Amino acid sequence: MPSVHIIGGGVAGYTLARELVRQHYAGTIIISEPQGLPYDRPPLSKSLQIEPFVPAAWYAEHGIELRQEKIAQLPLPAAPDDWVVLATGTTPELLEVPGAGHARTLHTAADAAALAQALDDSMFGLEVLVIGAGLIGAEFASTASMLGAQVTLVSNSEAPLAPVLGHELAAQLHADHGQRGIRTITGTVERIAADHVLVDGQRLEAEVILSAIGVRPDTALASALGLEVDDGILVDAQQRALGHRQVLAIGDAARHQGARRTVHWEAAMEDAAQAAATILGAAPVQRSVPWFWTDRHEMHVETVGDFRQAASTVLRRNRRGKLQAVFGLDAHGVLVAASMVDGGLMAKAVKRLVARGSAPSIEHLEDPSVGPRELGRSD
Ligand SMILES: Cc1cc2nc3c(=O)[nH]c(=O)nc-3n(C[C@H](O)[C@H](O)[C@H](O)COP(=O)(O)OP(=O)(O)OC[C@H]3O[C@@H](n4cnc5c(N)ncnc54)[C@H](O)[C@@H]3O)c2cc1C
Repeated sequence: MPSVHIIGGGVAGYTLARELVRQHYAGTIIISEPQGLPYDRPPLSKSLQIEPFVPAAWYAEHGIELRQEKIAQLPLPAAPDDWVVLATGTTPELLEVPGAGHARTLHTAADAAALAQALDDSMFGLEVLVIGAGLIGAEFASTASMLGAQVTLVSNSEAPLAPVLGHELAAQLHADHGQRGIRTITGTVERIAADHVLVDGQRLEAEVILSAIGVRPDTALASALGLEVDDGILVDAQQRALGHRQVLAIGDAARHQGARRTVHWEAAMEDAAQAAATILGAAPVQRSVPWFWTDRHEMHVETVGDFRQAASTVLRRNRRGKLQAVFGLDAHGVLVAASMVDGGLMAKAVKRLVARGSAPSIEHLEDPSVGPRELGRSD
């Protein structure tokens, strides 16, 4: 009986198992995941909730063996139609300052449960200090503040996330924290202690300190096996790890050769769909234009495409002058990226326009009364 052994039960690993079931894979499916029942990560910072993808019974029902184990050495495929799939995701980067061990991280269900407990236990506004205002830091700062904590958000930039969200929207969203009662501080962390953080010589008291300065791909198993690793496990278009034809790598741990590494939920799912196609010998999966979302202060922010390809930006403001969307255009006026707040159907429309290489008129892009459908007709 052929087998697929999936190492890691994050969204990539789980999606691959689901796709194999959906497409009637005839072999054995094994998922090794030390944390037990696979769960989704985005809710961890938005609501501190742990949401399994499906109940445990689903795995049993479909004959999937869910092993609660951390693989220390990669089990190589034993037969010509066996596959091993690395879906090991990322681990949080740690600050390299004295006392860094006093800071918590928010990456696992256990991290979220511990933070939820600390917020619950506090009678008065818990003093929370978040280091790093990227997607996870900003989301947790907003969640903790909504749950009654007194939050300080330390960032080394006035517009964190500018390269991914577009500068103008990134700056507005960061400034929004201040209007929602979060103290924002721009500076460099020098030292961390159990009850305070030193930022550019300023002592900031805190009961809970969270470090959210980014993640790095978990490539230990791949490296040990001699697979090619360079800012992620290098893979080809079929998700095959360079160095072994029956080892695939998917999700945040993998990087497509010649492309930038992504650490987003939808991209991890697309990798999984492609891995299923490779295993089943099916036609390659059509990749969509990159997309991710983030939620903070009850705002739903979506980004489509890649602002690094933009030569100029066009801003769309609502009638009160607040920025609603930023569109990124290349040197020929072709739409290559967009970020929007509470955009409704706009993100889907923009995805189509970017995929088509459209060049919508600047007047239409700027005009808040031009809806998603009309935008597509303006180039
Ligand atoms: C708090 C938080 C909020 C997020 N919010 C968003 C969002 O709003 N939008 C968005 O697009 N993305 C978001 N992301 C990113 C998104 O969740 C990731 O892109 C996605 O989880 C990647 O999936 P993955 O399966 O590749 O890796 P992971 O989800 O990291 O899963 C990897 C799994 O592999 C397991 N593993 C590692 N090593 C081994 C081993 N040796 N043996 C067995 N198992 C192993 C780990 O235990 C882990 O469960 C968020 C991430 C976090 C942490």
